[in-house]
Amino acid sequence: MNSIGERARALNDKIVERRRLFHTCPEINLSTVQTEAHIVEELKKLGVKDIKQGLAEHGVTALIEGGKPGKVLGLRSDMDGLNILEDTGLPFASKNGNMHACGHDAHIAMLLGAAEILTENKDNLKGTVKLIFQPGEETTYGAVAMLKDGVLENPKVDAIIALHTGGLWSPGKPGDICYRPGPLMASSDFFTITFTGKGGHGATPHLTVDPIAMAAQAFTALQTIVSRETSPLDSAVVTIGAIHGGSAGNIIAPTCVLKGTYRALSVATRERLGVRIKELCEDIARGMRGSVEIEYAYGPPALNNDKEMTEKLRLAATEIVGAERVREIDEPTMGAEDMACYMEKIPGTFFYHPSFKSESAAPHHNPKFDIDESVLWIGSATLAQFALSWQ
Ligand SMILES: [Zn+2]
Ligand SMILES: [Zn+2]
Repeated sequence: MNSIGERARALNDKIVERRRLFHTCPEINLSTVQTEAHIVEELKKLGVKDIKQGLAEHGVTALIEGGKPGKVLGLRSDMDGLNILEDTGLPFASKNGNMHACGHDAHIAMLLGAAEILTENKDNLKGTVKLIFQPGEETTYGAVAMLKDGVLENPKVDAIIALHTGGLWSPGKPGDICYRPGPLMASSDFFTITFTGKGGHGATPHLTVDPIAMAAQAFTALQTIVSRETSPLDSAVVTIGAIHGGSAGNIIAPTCVLKGTYRALSVATRERLGVRIKELCEDIARGMRGSVEIEYAYGPPALNNDKEMTEKLRLAATEIVGAERVREIDEPTMGAEDMACYMEKIPGTFFYHPSFKSESAAPHHNPKFDIDESVLWIGSATLAQFALSWQ
């Protein structure tokens, strides 16, 4: 391990202390008021420059200027929790009805740890590091709002990296760093389909137009977009998660609503799924004498790790934990992450920092979710090492 790793390991207690502070006050979506205030307070103590608040309502950025000329690297952490009642029994458990059940509290603490190491090593730093604390990752509104508020400007950010802790999508053990060049996560879009017919008596279906019959056809037909129209070697998902229509066995309902999500790893497949969902539903509605309205809620695009950035990440992580603990992730996941919104604009890499204490650990977004705090320094060290060595 190099001196950055040694320093980070010595800072672990402090990183844990900060993680617990953020853990006690989880806030959701863009309303991260207290979290923002705590981050700003910690950044002031570190003496970083140009602290800006209020991006995406309560996001924060700050700069660490290196002693040598160079490019600008964004280090990004999300900062929002979830509307889950915590049931960990931890002494620092949240009592406000929300919970950091995805590890974003640890992300903030690890980024502050990296910031501390980088301020101490400013003379060896080329260019500038822009610290980016983003709310609203879980709701996927955060990155888009940060971009709208100019997060990648003044100074212009050339490249960006971030990590996710826990046991999400990755096979590693605490203390590992997991990377993957190329596609890592899927685009995530949502749809609401409303079939409208003509309600009436269940005994006289011929006098009605039945939207539940349309919904049943649509449910089956939508499955064929993946099974019959998408290459078996491409990856796509169409899920209908909710169907609501009708109130009693002898009433034909006037409307029936389906809600779902579709995922893809490429831009072309993403666009095609959206178009085909609409075409099939419109044709089913027309064929069955009804009508249909479809609303889309677009989420982040697919996340593609830049090959060169990912190789530099692999090398940085190797400096910290050694080659045997740096693992390549075998395959992408159809989960999504709004880090992809930045990476659509500039090269970047998103990597995993496994921190589940055991294989039976409670999953992400579970009231008993918890992480192994003893490895938080590895996240800080890897971010700092990357910033010091990428250019
Ligand atoms: Zn999450
Ligand atoms: Zn998360």
